[in-house]
Amino acid sequence: MSSPRTYFASTPIYYVNDVPHPGHAYTTIAADALTRARRLQGHRVFFLTGTDEHGQNIERIAREKGVPEQQYCDGIAAVFQKLWDRLDIRHDRFIRTTDEIHRRGVLKLWDRLVSARTPDGREAVYRGTYAGWYCPRCEAFKDEGELKQPGNLCADHERSCEWTEEENFFFRLSAYDKWLRESITGGAIRIDPAGRRSEVLAMLGQGLQDFSVTRARVKWGIAVPGEPGHVFYVWLDALANYITALGFADDNPFYKTFWVGADERLHLIGKEIIRFHCLAWPAMLQAAALPVPNRFFAHGHLTKEGRKLSKTTGNTIDTDRLLEVYGPDAVRYFLLREGSFGQDWDFTDDAFFRRYNSDLANDLGNLVSRALTMVVRYCGGRVPSPAQTPARLLLAGRGGGAAAGVFERYEALDFAGALAEAWDAVRDLNQQIVRASPWEMAKDPARKAELESFLYALLEEIRWATLTVFPVMPQAASRVFRMLGQASKEPGPDDLSWGRLVPGSALGALEPLFPRLERPGKLAAPAGAKEVPVSEPPASPPAETTQAAPPDAGRVDIADFARLDLRAGEVKAAERVPGSKKLLKLQVDLGDETRQVVAGIAEAYAPEAVLGRKVVLVANLKPAKLMGIESNGMVLAASIGGQPILCTFDSDVPPGTKVK
Ligand SMILES: [Zn+2]
Repeated sequence: MSSPRTYFASTPIYYVNDVPHPGHAYTTIAADALTRARRLQGHRVFFLTGTDEHGQNIERIAREKGVPEQQYCDGIAAVFQKLWDRLDIRHDRFIRTTDEIHRRGVLKLWDRLVSARTPDGREAVYRGTYAGWYCPRCEAFKDEGELKQPGNLCADHERSCEWTEEENFFFRLSAYDKWLRESITGGAIRIDPAGRRSEVLAMLGQGLQDFSVTRARVKWGIAVPGEPGHVFYVWLDALANYITALGFADDNPFYKTFWVGADERLHLIGKEIIRFHCLAWPAMLQAAALPVPNRFFAHGHLTKEGRKLSKTTGNTIDTDRLLEVYGPDAVRYFLLREGSFGQDWDFTDDAFFRRYNSDLANDLGNLVSRALTMVVRYCGGRVPSPAQTPARLLLAGRGGGAAAGVFERYEALDFAGALAEAWDAVRDLNQQIVRASPWEMAKDPARKAELESFLYALLEEIRWATLTVFPVMPQAASRVFRMLGQASKEPGPDDLSWGRLVPGSALGALEPLFPRLERPGKLAAPAGAKEVPVSEPPASPPAETTQAAPPDAGRVDIADFARLDLRAGEVKAAERVPGSKKLLKLQVDLGDETRQVVAGIAEAYAPEAVLGRKVVLVANLKPAKLMGIESNGMVLAASIGGQPILCTFDSDVPPGTKVK
């Protein structure tokens, strides 16, 4: 992999006017995953997040609640910190703008700004009068054209803006137009995605306005030296956190290493705050003769079920509930896998549930459980001893090469792409198991060396796949490492070499990775609980497809019958289940989804004979595992003398049609 580099990465600091919003979790999870991917490769990283706690809004909210401002801020900052703990966020510092280290840093930056000169030789900070329409909620003056009429309303808050005049200090942003344009077009300041970069360049095209950096009407803030009654305005106060947190005030070694000396100074931001981040902040640093950020990534917004997130309408993503039901790894995985990080995307509970069951419980969970169960069974729970050198054993030509591709995707903040590549490997390994049929090798003592080599390579491949998803799912990955008998420490660059598993070493205890869910929000029994041993066919054919209903004198009423979801389905793929005479694995098209069903019909039907056939499927049957293969539903058949005869339709019906 690449030689060690030094990285600074931050989220915005979040305003404590309210408890965390799902968007905050989104940015912070992304920053954490990027940071973990970099640490894993041996890079030096500093990951900063925190809270923005000053301003008129906080003054007002604290007053309404009847508590001192600091006490109010402490309460909300604690809620953020608790959420980051629950989401497994490993930041290096949580900065609060009410911290003393921040106050001293802001004063030092101010000192530099008041004596700074613009490129054309004027004072970078000057005293001026500001008059305009002011929205106290936004803490910003609004252009006349932005207001909603009648009533001079703030478009965001639907509240009247106040005509305000005050004497403030201004930062001469207009003097940095040319420098900003050259820095951005020349690549010294990289802004992604490209659409956001164009947007920032368009802002430059409209001409930059100087902006005021102090406020005369606010008390809750950092006092401006020598100007009684003035505090620093939010954009100077808040933006400065990126350097104050590193110990800028005292020229701390962290500041020197992770800001001045960093190869990359990256700010992750939401697309709504690009103006001040990509223009005002670099210009202020340039004026103060300090290193400027060299990379910005502005992510898109989330909607829920197609509608804007809003606390008032109740259309929110309930992070607490998701964490309770699915755990932090699944939340992190879904947010980074489902949408493209730079784009807007829509969150649905249904998609969350489906990805949880298919990607996590089924693909990854099954891979790990199948592989380890075989190693326990065939190799006494110890890492197998391959006949060849481990370096030669690549099941899918993956290992290091493919992992490098995944880490490149992380570097590009293409989390969905990184995870898609990792899942290609996971699915491929599942197929390799079926193709190689190790349970067949296990029956023949002459094939022992072949079996051990295959299982060794399989475990190594799983270890590699796990390394690549570790940045997004640290807890699940750690569980896999433990099961593989690896020391419980955060993985590092040493782990990124092929053949780290020591033949003969003991595996850890097997544990479920992602318990399957029966329906959204309800956890099923832990994965593996219903599992049939992988090497032996079940004692009798699966009852659901070949046996008549149990003799039961009682009749069911219509309500009981209505609980069954019977559907017409079309068989799209069929293959024999290795090691079983009776089972076929079917992929059944139900119109809006494809179901995998294991059916006990192989003695009567060859796989080719059922392809394209219309069948009747019990669609809401609890999932079960047969020979380690998941079955999601049951195909109806009659049974004559033990021979199954499939139920079908006497004229054509589209897949998914309800059967009553
Ligand atoms: Zn407003």
